[in-house]
Amino acid sequence: MRLVFLGPPGAGKGTLAVRLAEHFSLAHIATGDLLRRNVQEGTELGKKAQSFLERGALVPDDLVIAMVKERFRKPDAKKGFILDGFPRTVAQAEALDQVLSQMNSLLGCVAYFETSIGTIIDRLSGRWTCTQCGMSFHVRNIPPKRKGICDRCGSKLVQREDDKEETVHRRLEVYEQETAPLIKYYEKRNLLKKTSGDRPLEEQFEFLKNLCLESVA
Ligand code: AMP
Repeated sequence: MRLVFLGPPGAGKGTLAVRLAEHFSLAHIATGDLLRRNVQEGTELGKKAQSFLERGALVPDDLVIAMVKERFRKPDAKKGFILDGFPRTVAQAEALDQVLSQMNSLLGCVAYFETSIGTIIDRLSGRWTCTQCGMSFHVRNIPPKRKGICDRCGSKLVQREDDKEETVHRRLEVYEQETAPLIKYYEKRNLLKKTSGDRPLEEQFEFLKNLCLESVA
């Protein structure tokens, strides 16, 4: 299975991608998590990406594409993957098409999380994220078992800097300008499957599980 999760920040892509990747033993490739790890570790890529993340702007395509290509070389990606937060521009989508054709493989489907602004603001303002594994929680909808501690790896949870209100508005503008055109891009290729990002977690999980099972590649 090779899937893309497409949608605005706060649509629930990351939470569902973690759970479905675990369920189907797929690699979960989240470019936001990979970039944040690079920033934390102070790598060359992290130094170049940091100011873009802080401003809620997109990291330049060439850096992100190189990072994803590198990630595809790891053995777990060969068995299938969920791409979460990539592609985010048409140039990234074209690069993905190229990489997949070099690997002799195809995308199974692109799940588009159509999400209302109310849900987005509520999810992002209540989101707590693990500093180590990237798992997301929500103060009301998905509270961690122990306050401030990740259920999965026991590390500290923090509120992401870019989930603050001013940066969220910037990220939504960037989404509309740069990423929303991908809806048409994948519609034209008959790969787009819509789901409502407003659905409750369990209902969304069941819906996407079936989508994964139905997807051809
Ligand atoms: P996310 O965790 O997916 O919300 O991403 C957080 C931030 O990482 C974004 O606001 C961008 O600054 C950066 N980022 C993540 N994925 C990409 C991508 N595919 N292209 C460019 N920038 C990205």
